[in-house]
Amino acid sequence: MVEVSIERPAIYVVATPLGNLGDLSPRAAAVLRKSDLILAEDTRHSRKLLDHIGGSSAALAAMHEHNERDIAAGLVARIAAERLAVCVITDAGTPLISDPGFPLVVQALEAGLPVRPVPGPCALVAALSVSGLDTTRFLFEGFLPAKAHAREERLTVLAGMPHTTVCYEAPHRILGTLEDVVRIVGSARPIALARELTKLYETVYHGPAGEVLAAVRRDAHGTYGEFVLVIGPGPEQAPDEAEARRVLTVLLGRFSRRDAIDAATEILRMRRNQLYALSLELAPEA
Ligand code: SAM
Repeated sequence: MVEVSIERPAIYVVATPLGNLGDLSPRAAAVLRKSDLILAEDTRHSRKLLDHIGGSSAALAAMHEHNERDIAAGLVARIAAERLAVCVITDAGTPLISDPGFPLVVQALEAGLPVRPVPGPCALVAALSVSGLDTTRFLFEGFLPAKAHAREERLTVLAGMPHTTVCYEAPHRILGTLEDVVRIVGSARPIALARELTKLYETVYHGPAGEVLAAVRRDAHGTYGEFVLVIGPGPEQAPDEAEARRVLTVLLGRFSRRDAIDAATEILRMRRNQLYALSLELAPEA
């Protein structure tokens, strides 16, 4: 067992396992055991984790996406007044990464409270580390928009990014998203799809987007579980072209081709025929 000294008052942002309880660090377990209050996304789920470490004397309270904005200020005042050591945990991985915790951390920092990380599992980092794709520069996109049009628009922009992109995705949307990636980003773009990391059915598909889509379709369990999608970098582009793609994509999503090109010509000060050609690439004529 590791020895830790606990600050009071302080907030500890504690990473917890993605599935395999063995991934909870000894320091995380010690801080959870010694704290006064644990703020958990789902208290029933987190109780199992606390049982795994032999229990904790800390009180357990719920802090999730529906109440965290309302309770943050009151919590910060109480933590300071009662000099509490408080842990923030979520159902899996690192809090604040597509998870609750942001309002509390911001308000605690504003109030001058120490906020300490207890680092550990994070699905985006785990997936990236085994993706076989460039890790020198990457963009974490979180969840892509659920609505088809917004998702297409976002993928069109991401397709032009010269660095690796990491997205979280829900099981009921994974096939649709992969189909969009093949259509918009291209079937030849190298991607990796990580499923059920650290769990019994952990699977990582690697290869061109078209082949990964086919493999997921072939796999009877291909759409079950939790997913991280990693999209390899697009070609390096001149900054002007990347900006033109971004601006034109947004305009094409809102206006007719003619109006979009008119507006883009003024915004970007580029030649009309150049923008027309780019518009056909971004939104082929039906
Ligand atoms: N805070 C978490 C983290 O640090 O990774 C992420 C929370 S977010 C609400 C949940 C998403 O993370 C899932 O929908 C999935 O995309 C990804 N995820 C979580 N656990 C995973 C796992 N074991 N394997 C693959 N993806 C996982």
